[in-house]
Amino acid sequence: MTVTDAVCVTNDMHDSRPCTIRGEHSDICDGYEYRWAEEHRRYVATGKECHGCLPRLASNGLLCRPCWESLQSAENAYGPLAELLEEFDVLVVPIGDGGGGGEKARIPLSGTKIALNEISSYRGTAETIDLDAWVSRPEGAEEAVRFTRAVRGALRSFPTTEDPHRVPRVRCPQCELLSLMWRPPVLAGDSVRIDCRNPECGFVLDQDAFDKEQGWSMKVGAP
Ligand SMILES: [Zn+2]
Ligand SMILES: [Zn+2]
Ligand SMILES: [Zn+2]
Repeated sequence: MTVTDAVCVTNDMHDSRPCTIRGEHSDICDGYEYRWAEEHRRYVATGKECHGCLPRLASNGLLCRPCWESLQSAENAYGPLAELLEEFDVLVVPIGDGGGGGEKARIPLSGTKIALNEISSYRGTAETIDLDAWVSRPEGAEEAVRFTRAVRGALRSFPTTEDPHRVPRVRCPQCELLSLMWRPPVLAGDSVRIDCRNPECGFVLDQDAFDKEQGWSMKVGAP
């Protein structure tokens, strides 16, 4: 077995949040957070503190473990989602078809069609694809990340998952109010996110903090 130190491809993508390890920093970190600014074609300081910039290592091809797991869930969701979006499209189109002949009704390109086109532009439309082969090439890994994001976006726009809801009986560890919200992951493998709705607090527990604070998170848990 060969050990590589390839990092998750998101670290080379300007249109993606890089996968980094919370609380760990690269040698060149100056303590500030940077973000790619398309109009300047370079990274600019956001003025915020850096919470971790050490890239996550790739685990499958050029994807880190969370990206790989999200890709697998996105691929599992793809078949039924594509069917649903096609069906929606058929349902939506006749609305613009005002009937009675005469002037040709303008048929808007529906949101579902746009979503499906975007998803297919990355993945193609084959019934099955080889995910391992896909993410072993840099361009493929980038496409796979964009595919996952597009599927996630479509699932958000046409939701089939549970809504965010309050966490009962557990106080926010920072402000001690009963104000925690549980935000369910859109894709299996996505990060867990719990945040505090008290605007003066803003406590956020994301996946990394969740992993580090097992004791506390056991108490919150998934509902
Ligand atoms: Zn840093
Ligand atoms: Zn990643
Ligand atoms: Zn709070």
